[in-house]
Amino acid sequence: MIEFTPEETEFRASVARFVDAEVAPVAAALDERQEFPRDLFRRIGSLDYFGLRYPEAAGGSGAGFAMYCILAEELARGSMSVAAMTAMQAMMGTDFLFRFGSPDQHERLFRPALRGETIGAFCLTEPDAGSDLARIATTAKETPAGWRLTGSKFWVTSGTVADFFTVAASTDRSKGLKGLKFFLVERGASGLTVGRKIKTLGNWGGETTELSLDDTPAAKLGDAGLEDLGKLLNQIRVMTGALSLGLARAALDEATRYSKERICFGQPIANFQALRHLMAQSWADLETSRLAVYQAARAIERGQKCGALAAAAKLVASEMANRAADTALRVLGGAGFAMEHAAQRLYRDARFLLIGGGTSEILRNVIAKELLGD
Ligand SMILES: Cc1cc2nc3c(=O)[nH]c(=O)nc-3n(C[C@H](O)[C@H](O)[C@H](O)COP(=O)(O)OP(=O)(O)OC[C@H]3O[C@@H](n4cnc5c(N)ncnc54)[C@H](O)[C@@H]3O)c2cc1C
Repeated sequence: MIEFTPEETEFRASVARFVDAEVAPVAAALDERQEFPRDLFRRIGSLDYFGLRYPEAAGGSGAGFAMYCILAEELARGSMSVAAMTAMQAMMGTDFLFRFGSPDQHERLFRPALRGETIGAFCLTEPDAGSDLARIATTAKETPAGWRLTGSKFWVTSGTVADFFTVAASTDRSKGLKGLKFFLVERGASGLTVGRKIKTLGNWGGETTELSLDDTPAAKLGDAGLEDLGKLLNQIRVMTGALSLGLARAALDEATRYSKERICFGQPIANFQALRHLMAQSWADLETSRLAVYQAARAIERGQKCGALAAAAKLVASEMANRAADTALRVLGGAGFAMEHAAQRLYRDARFLLIGGGTSEILRNVIAKELLGD
């Protein structure tokens, strides 16, 4: 069993109160509007959630990684779109800036980002480079006037509204992954174009875009490279496992609620063993995935090498969340197919969990490499 500290338990209760009062009730409306929810974003900043995992000296709260996963889980229980935009701001969009940014960049961009006053985005993926990062074709050139980036990025979460972008680019393509470095690009930089908003299957409450850079001025973020990305990827994977727990809980809640209300053949459908077993299996899978996610979170807190464990946590939890969403739709029957019920949103949003932070196939490759070598 995973032991949580009294502080973690109290934190979970307070995030749950916020989610029940201010996130879950607007989740359907956010989905319908299909716009970045600026007011809610600022509200989350005012609660200090964006700075949760950063040290107090840098403007954060200095919480451990398990507490950050608790935040991700509870937010995802209310809305995957809100949880995803929060993760982007609290982690991927600001992590390199925190670790490698200059004092001036911290003052102007990072600290305000923790308050929700500036917005960060993370640009790794390209039209021709997702799982295979060695194919990243965006290039970084050093000129007398500073670094210049040229290339295209794809799937930029919060891209439409971001004030700054952490961009992966190759300083030397002959070096492959070793030539990959990270740069800060600010909105308004010459040659930077935020392209079309990508129409997606799920996460409609957020905005994901293309981005192009044409000889765009950029600031190099220290010597940040592949190893630093690896460490962040472990955290992204465990956090995505936590998002999966939250979505699965919402799906199971929806299925249990509906099954007690819906009458068929003179009784609530919750009485039928076929459905009871489906929901019991969802619960069993959810609780065993929870062990994997928080075990991996503790390993990250202790600074342990945990690539396979982090991959496993994401793998089992994201696959579990997709099965839980499928179960919810089955239990709801025709209502599961109707847009007025939340089940369809959970089913659509769950697919994102199988992709972001590494697909299930890539995660199995990571685990197999640790088990079996190259
Ligand atoms: C909603 C959403 C938001 C996102 N936000 C961001 C963001 O903010 N920033 C960012 O940088 N990226 C973001 N991404 C991109 C995401 O990280 C990539 O989609 C993901 O890494 C997969 O890359 P790909 O889509 O190019 O798929 P591909 O890499 O082209 O994979 C296609 C298929 O091939 C399989 N495959 C590939 N290689 C192997 C292999 N070696 N062995 C077995 N199977 C393999 C994959 O598992 C998959 O099934 C986002 C994606 C989504 C859907």
